[in-house]
Amino acid sequence: MIIKTPYYLINEQRLLRNLNIIQQIKESSGAKFVLALKCFATWGVFDLIKKYLDGTTSSSVYETRLGYEKFGKEVHAYCVGYTLEEIKEVRPLAGKIIFNSISQLTRFYPYCRGTKLGLRINPGISYSKFDLADPTRPFSRLGVLNKKEILKVLPFISGVMFHFNCENDNFENFSNNLDRISKVYGNILDKLDWVSFGGGLYFTKKEYPLIKFCEKLKKFSRCFNIQIYFEPGESVISESAELVTKVVDIVRNKINIAIVDASIESHMLDLLIYRSQAKIKNTGSGKFKYMVAGRSCLSGDIFGTYKFNSCLKIGSTIKFSDAAGYTIVKKNWFNGLKMPSIAIKRLNGEIDLVKIFTYTDFLNSLS
Ligand SMILES: *Cc1c(COP(=O)(O)O)cnc(C)c1O
Repeated sequence: MIIKTPYYLINEQRLLRNLNIIQQIKESSGAKFVLALKCFATWGVFDLIKKYLDGTTSSSVYETRLGYEKFGKEVHAYCVGYTLEEIKEVRPLAGKIIFNSISQLTRFYPYCRGTKLGLRINPGISYSKFDLADPTRPFSRLGVLNKKEILKVLPFISGVMFHFNCENDNFENFSNNLDRISKVYGNILDKLDWVSFGGGLYFTKKEYPLIKFCEKLKKFSRCFNIQIYFEPGESVISESAELVTKVVDIVRNKINIAIVDASIESHMLDLLIYRSQAKIKNTGSGKFKYMVAGRSCLSGDIFGTYKFNSCLKIGSTIKFSDAAGYTIVKKNWFNGLKMPSIAIKRLNGEIDLVKIFTYTDFLNSLS
């Protein structure tokens, strides 16, 4: 099947590699895994993911509803700030509601009878190279800092959430932080049924020490007699999708610049925010050097500079890899550019074109 570019192509076979690793961790550690929908919410592959993961977690009412409707299983709801109206919407859908502050918990628990409640703790530790994503940055609003206050509200909650990692592939670091959390919060964990260690761990990366990781988790849950959860986003979906584009023009300004029918601002925004280059497979050593740029009006709409093995032409296909996490969920209508379609390569090799965006979608996103 020929699909018009630009489009995101999710590859279920590649996704399965990550899911198998998660399955292995679940079996040998007893931990549970809920997908962080803010990272990836393409529900066209949920039928596959839900065979392996225990449910979803969310950052808003809409994500909670999506998790409930399209994924099922366990539904965790978290939001940095709820209104009462939203709590009334979320409560019938969520198995657990995790509050970000003591004031939200104490205000809303009377409306949540029968639902398991949790509280986000800010342990004051983090692994993030970026200020924007650092939960311990100065004046951070993410989670409760004061331990005495947590002790006072223990009767209202059955669990807590610590989310303090971001792109962390360092097991020793995680292990040391787990020890710190055990020491500082042990008397709290002893009284609870579940603890979530959030997302941000790269346990599906090659060479992550899975055996040590599982041993550590098993010890922790035995020690506190507690169910561990993880809320992975990126590590579920990493390296399982690409953004497929075509070159629409080649211009020269001291160097060769290939302009593609997509935009980093509109279609791979995270790379721009974190100032990293998009990945293109099999580039690096070729003789043909191009800057690959997007077609928005921004002069800095640049995917990166690459050395290709052959010369690019108008109509050449360029595939940016790792285009699932924080990518499809962040696409936007800036410049009114054509939004990439979404296609899924199924396990049997067939390609399903699950979504095409049209002018009407653009129109309806405005008023
Ligand atoms: C962002 C986030 C996640 C998912 O993080 P990944 O880095 O994609 O694994 C999980 N939990 C919370 C609370 C988050 O904010």
